[in-house]
Amino acid sequence: MQSNSLVVRKYGGSSLATTDHIVRVANQLSEICRDGTSVVVVVSAMGDTTDELIEMVSSITERPPGREYDALLSTGEIISSALLSMALQEKGINALSLTGAQAGIKTTAMFRDARIENIDTDRIIDRLPKGGCLIIAGFQGINEDQDTTTLGRGGSDTSAIAIAISLGLKECEIYTDVEGIYTADPRIITKAKKISFITYEEILEMSSLGSKVLHPRSVELATVSYTHLTLPTKA
Ligand code: ADP
Ligand code: ASP
Ligand code: MG
Repeated sequence: MQSNSLVVRKYGGSSLATTDHIVRVANQLSEICRDGTSVVVVVSAMGDTTDELIEMVSSITERPPGREYDALLSTGEIISSALLSMALQEKGINALSLTGAQAGIKTTAMFRDARIENIDTDRIIDRLPKGGCLIIAGFQGINEDQDTTTLGRGGSDTSAIAIAISLGLKECEIYTDVEGIYTADPRIITKAKKISFITYEEILEMSSLGSKVLHPRSVELATVSYTHLTLPTKA
């Protein structure tokens, strides 16, 4: 497959916060597909869905079993992937949604903080509609026991980058709610300046110190494979 006919793009929760947002994202994607480009779209859960699910858990138990916790948390991304697929099909775009398990994203056993071990790229390519969109639920995979796992908070970035790498792409586009990476969190420090170029080491340090802008493991993966990250762009 030629790299210019395939792109991997990730949309975060704030870009998919409401059904109106989802329709807007579907419009953006349909523009890309019109020239024959196929898009693997990795999605996060809508808005604060994951926080809301965690709140529901807290009202039931202080010690949720990991297996059920991940089964629950993974549903947020499944909702947004199915809705985005419907929004695209409504516009006449060939689209299909897959859970992490359906996309062959195999992880370590550990619930809540699993690591991606392997991705069944053939499966992704087989299901990818030419000139259309394959929407994959981020933040999740499946372990050896066929149980759903999640990758740690913010883990959809890692799903997207791992998928881009497994498809042999050198680029992964991350769409979020800020216009790029800033010298500090622009929501807290209003004078923070936008950075036009950042080294892998600098972004790794930033994300490891807790800046949410990219999941630390996604930066580690991009670093070892020299994947170029289009700095987070406002969706
Ligand atoms: P998404 O849902 O798209 O993954 P996140 O909320 O996980 O979005 O990450 C984006 C947020 O990261 C921004 O809204 C911003 O508040 C925060 N952030 C923290 N540090 C930075 C930084 N240095 N540059 C840009 N955004 C930052
Ligand atoms: N929905 C998950 C979270 O809120 C994963 C992600 O957004 O990347 O942590
Ligand atoms: Mg995030």
